[in-house]
Amino acid sequence: MNIATPIAHGCCDHRFEPEHLHPIVSKLFMPSGVDGVYGRTGAYESVIEALAALISRHRPESAEVFRFAPVMPRASLEKQGYLQSFPNLIGAVSTLMGTDREISKSAAKHEAGGDWTEDLKPSDLVLAPAACYPIYPIAAERGVVPDQGYIFDVAADCFRHEPSRHVDRFQTFRMREYVRIGTPAQIQAFREPWIARAQGIADVIGLTYTVDVANDPFFGRVGAMMANQQREDALKFELLVPVRSAESPTACMSFNYHKEHFGEVWGLHNAAGDVLHTGCVAFGMDRLAVALFVTHGVTISDWPASVRAALNL
Ligand code: 5GP
Ligand code: ZN
Repeated sequence: MNIATPIAHGCCDHRFEPEHLHPIVSKLFMPSGVDGVYGRTGAYESVIEALAALISRHRPESAEVFRFAPVMPRASLEKQGYLQSFPNLIGAVSTLMGTDREISKSAAKHEAGGDWTEDLKPSDLVLAPAACYPIYPIAAERGVVPDQGYIFDVAADCFRHEPSRHVDRFQTFRMREYVRIGTPAQIQAFREPWIARAQGIADVIGLTYTVDVANDPFFGRVGAMMANQQREDALKFELLVPVRSAESPTACMSFNYHKEHFGEVWGLHNAAGDVLHTGCVAFGMDRLAVALFVTHGVTISDWPASVRAALNL
């Protein structure tokens, strides 16, 4: 067997993190051999679960709960314009297709020192880049949206092709979202209080943060213009926590107003025939967990009693 990069179990490559992150990296994450993909310890997962429970306690009463697979239809991603906005972040599932004979031939290439991956063909699945994407076609499929609109509670393992060595930029990470579908006024009435409520959540778990207007990393030159417009229209806010440094804090939650984008793509409309708007509040579960360990230390039993009480830890 050929092991290109030997990795000692339980020991990470520290060189790419500031000193204060070293214990987090070495005690909580197991390197996989690929940047931005880690195994996680039981202690780390207990914090993820505690955060999920805390967020659930803030679930809007009328929210319908859905949990999604880490993959979604490729056709959905294409239809919603992801190729124009973030083609660089896409991860697509490809498989060996064909007869048993053809598949055996492809697999045998590896043993023979060849490249079996050249036979891979794109499947009809992509890795989900955000937890809310699958909900819009589901809602549209139901037909006319009731006047009160919809609120959903969704979550998924997400993937973005960002092979970074930083613990706050995984290639694959857990995202939880509350999603609102309704009139522009309903989206505003949902998002504004959530920006305050989310700060309340950050307060009880002892995080230091700022909230600021933000933009998505739209791709290319046209993307830069879209990002500027998004900022100008204040369509995205982020709750930022000093994980790596105070100068470049890490976005742990985002508050998004998509205007009519998903409504138009999927045909979401009310009885009056108006195209509906959408918005979402996204919790980056892994970033929030990392932020907690950075803020309170790597040993959960040493965390402030009030924080442990808020999380039932
Ligand atoms: P957004 O759709 O606003 O980019 O992402 C929603 C949330 O997911 C972000 O606020 C952040 O907490 C989390 N997130 C986005 N990208 C990454 C990433 O590369 N790594 C991790 N760990 N979390 C991410
Ligand atoms: Zn979303």
